[in-house]
Amino acid sequence: MSITLLARKQVQALTPYQSARRIGGHGHIWLNANEAADSGEYQLDCSRLNRYPECQPPHVVNAYAAYAGVSAEQLLVTRGGDEGIELLIRTFCEPGQDNIVICSPTYGMYAISAETNGVGIIDVPLNNQRQPDFDGIIAKLNNTKIVFLCSPNNPTGDLVDSTGLRRLLDAAKGRALVVVDEAYIEFCPEFTQADLLDDYPQLVLIRTLSKAFGLAGLRCGFTIANPEVIGLLLKVIPPYPIPEPVAQIAAQALSDTGLATMRARVADINQLKVTLTEQLRQHPQVQEVFAPNGNYVLVRFSQGAALFARMAKAGIILRDFASRPGLADCIRITIGTQTEMDAVLDVLQQEQ
Ligand code: PMP
Repeated sequence: MSITLLARKQVQALTPYQSARRIGGHGHIWLNANEAADSGEYQLDCSRLNRYPECQPPHVVNAYAAYAGVSAEQLLVTRGGDEGIELLIRTFCEPGQDNIVICSPTYGMYAISAETNGVGIIDVPLNNQRQPDFDGIIAKLNNTKIVFLCSPNNPTGDLVDSTGLRRLLDAAKGRALVVVDEAYIEFCPEFTQADLLDDYPQLVLIRTLSKAFGLAGLRCGFTIANPEVIGLLLKVIPPYPIPEPVAQIAAQALSDTGLATMRARVADINQLKVTLTEQLRQHPQVQEVFAPNGNYVLVRFSQGAALFARMAKAGIILRDFASRPGLADCIRITIGTQTEMDAVLDVLQQEQ
């Protein structure tokens, strides 16, 4: 008997997440995973590695709480934002019974975490303005435990409308959690939904050090929610999720110097993004440049597949979204360095 047949049916049928390093190709310019082009510099003290780490390192919790303007009781440190998503599903959704709502096209891990945990997925696609269909979501709340929204949305870049969000939160009171994934919020911090946390105990935010902080390799993220939600997640999280070196680096990234480095990186990326989007909009092969609120821009080209292949041939690895409904010919480009952006534009200019 094949070993594969021993695995859970859901796992046998699963198409795994196309992670940054899992794709083929020989690139020298990696613009497919919304990583930063630099990480900053850090020091490590290895003298305490004989001891198990704190489950929730207090210096990291306190530093992030101060940065985010919330209390330590509202915060959970996780292995990347992805672990927060997974924990929420495992803590709140009964396998084989409950559902989550996603609004496609959006970040793939909500559906993958639901699938691997035997939780149903109800897709209420974004509307023509690429906003969540709030009425459509509210109509599905009966069998739903968690609604996943993403702002700025990956891959489209749009921000969730606050009025609609409040309406959803009112409807979800006592019925479901509403998660707003703010993995990219540092690129437009004025649009955080953190102000709503005090009024809505069912609101949860997902954050990460992987994007604006330049630390995708660190695997450190945060879940922000009311203390009751955090208390439940703490029951489910493994005992030692945050390795000691990760805590040390996270604390340095959240120090005054670390925050200043992050803000300078964000200013540079946002500037490069403005220039790139202006140049793309003037290009005859570009049909549409989507809202660029994160560190990436989704672009509809006249011949997306051919361009994607030309970029790959030139060693530039982008993210192809062409197979997603509504995103024909769309490619997502992470904002890298000036040199990397020039390389992208060079390939675009070349004769076909
Ligand atoms: N949310 C969104 C919208 C993302 O794009 C990502 C990473 N691509 C994550 C969460 C998770 O990031 P990480 O686990 O690296 O914190």
